[in-house]
Amino acid sequence: MKISDHSVVSIDYTLTDDSGTELDSSRGGDPLTYIHGVGDLIPGLERALLGKGIGAAIKVRIAPEDGYGLRDENMVARVPRSHMPKGAPLDVGTQFQASGPEGEQVVRLVKVEDDAVWLDANHELAGVHLNFEVTVVAVRAATDEEPEHGHVHGPGVHHH
Ligand code: ZN
Repeated sequence: MKISDHSVVSIDYTLTDDSGTELDSSRGGDPLTYIHGVGDLIPGLERALLGKGIGAAIKVRIAPEDGYGLRDENMVARVPRSHMPKGAPLDVGTQFQASGPEGEQVVRLVKVEDDAVWLDANHELAGVHLNFEVTVVAVRAATDEEPEHGHVHGPGVHHH
């Protein structure tokens, strides 16, 4: 069976940046299982997997436009410490939930000053070229319900 829209696909993957630093991997854990064609994966990776079958091994370099998007420097803001939640750890790398005009978003603390911090609402991987090595472990057709729910049903994955 080949991967097409609404296939339920399990993959082993390793993600590195252009310097070879590993950013993410399923190695040592369960494969990632997703529904193809519903936006679970970044567009560049879905495109590379389309039409592949079990056992297929692919290597693909994905540009930011087909990954987590380009960086937008307007999404970086200086915030006075007095506007930060009391007792919150103000260390570089700390993530916060913030509510903005487009709803809840995750912001990352990227710089600390004496009286202020800098928060970045860009995705951590925005602007980054992504190098994926992927092996297709399993492919099956989705049940009628799964694409509707937007998630996979099955042992260890999701229960109702
Ligand atoms: Zn469900």
